[in-house]
Amino acid sequence: MASLTTHTNPLFSSKPHLSTPSPKLRPFSVQCSASSSKLKSLKARQIIDSRGNPTVEVDLITNDLFRSAVPSGASTGIYEALELRDGDNSVYGGKGVLNAVKNINDILAPKLVGIDVSNQADVDALMLEIDGTPNKSKLGANAILGVSLSVCRAGAGAKGMPLYKHIQELSGTKELVMPVPAFNVINGGSHAGNNLAMQEFMILPVGAASFAEALRMGSEVYHTLKGIIKAKYGQDACNVGDEGGFAPNVQDNREGLVLLIDAIEKAGYTGKIKIGMDVAASEFLTKDGRYDLNFKKQPNDGAHVMSAQSLGELYKEFVRDFPIVSIEDPFDQDDWSSWTSLQSSVDIQLVGDDLLVTNPKRIAEAIHKKSCNALLLKVNQIGTVTESIQAALDSKAAGWGVMVSHRSGETEDNFIADLSVGLASGQIKTGAPCRSERLAKYNQVESKS
Ligand code: PEP
Ligand code: MG
Repeated sequence: MASLTTHTNPLFSSKPHLSTPSPKLRPFSVQCSASSSKLKSLKARQIIDSRGNPTVEVDLITNDLFRSAVPSGASTGIYEALELRDGDNSVYGGKGVLNAVKNINDILAPKLVGIDVSNQADVDALMLEIDGTPNKSKLGANAILGVSLSVCRAGAGAKGMPLYKHIQELSGTKELVMPVPAFNVINGGSHAGNNLAMQEFMILPVGAASFAEALRMGSEVYHTLKGIIKAKYGQDACNVGDEGGFAPNVQDNREGLVLLIDAIEKAGYTGKIKIGMDVAASEFLTKDGRYDLNFKKQPNDGAHVMSAQSLGELYKEFVRDFPIVSIEDPFDQDDWSSWTSLQSSVDIQLVGDDLLVTNPKRIAEAIHKKSCNALLLKVNQIGTVTESIQAALDSKAAGWGVMVSHRSGETEDNFIADLSVGLASGQIKTGAPCRSERLAKYNQVESKS
């Protein structure tokens, strides 16, 4: 097996060393002998995700079983591929996915039986052809993705190799690297019932010597932060949001950053842990093109509404005052000029999530406009493994960073852990080091070191 080498994203001011080469994977991940590459059957069902909402699970059988489940966002970008929901408000509040399940069982399964699962690009292309729409709205991106993920797992099985290795081969990735984890330890925005407008306050242990050490650092800071929040705001401020981070009821986003700095310092990791944010600003764009940092209180007196320019100045202050290395979605998904202006005036990573929606077309536009310098890669935004790999390759070719990401609504599926390693993305964000649907991914990355 290729060794996992040092992460080399030049955007980090202190280079992380998250590489512990090891040929061992946990026993449940090992494919001992190659499976058949011929798809025998496909069966989808509706399961429940980490937020209590229905989602799609797919069992693909060759002579082995390959199971995958599909995540779901809350702060979704308007240009994402379509997540098919049943819309019957009397059942699961309209969020059922039985139509997507039916599309797999009745439309895709009969066409895919007999196909060679090691040809990921061909299978994905066939599904796009069957769907025939630009945003996968006929079958649903959730239906297509569930199949695509299971095909990828089965493709690895057919080669008798670990999933990340198969993804490495599919993507032509030369050198594997272990990713820097971005732990979202304070939750705001649409993921928490507090007053914080900005969605994610993350810690990035860029000074860790291994992924295991990064996990330890993240977990220790998380628990230290809990103590600080409890002492400052009381026990009920320690309740967590959708991604396992704390959700203290503070309004001032700067206060969130101060809490992180205090926790990092108290845990003894000053200088070794940097800060990342996901502002998810599309969530609070006003009708007149400004940004309402009190958007969760409606109606409000407008006292926290800011122009894009003032918001840009606020980010520059944050970058000056705190060890911030990465900001995601600082502006709305259509506010290209504000992105470009900020990108030209800060020396940090600007990550496009809603802006890019893992879509090669929007990535090309952002490269052209110099709007950001990193991709947030979410497999369900685009809907196939092949297109996700293409998005990562295009981003890397432009010299960008790539952060593989979970969604706020998750399952115990850990595909993105292997994706991050196999693509050598260098970065993964999958929530706090807390809650099993988040740890399923971090622990799977750790199993590779
Ligand atoms: C995000 O915005 O990066 C995120 C993970 O949230 P969601 O899944 O709700 O889009
Ligand atoms: Mg985001």
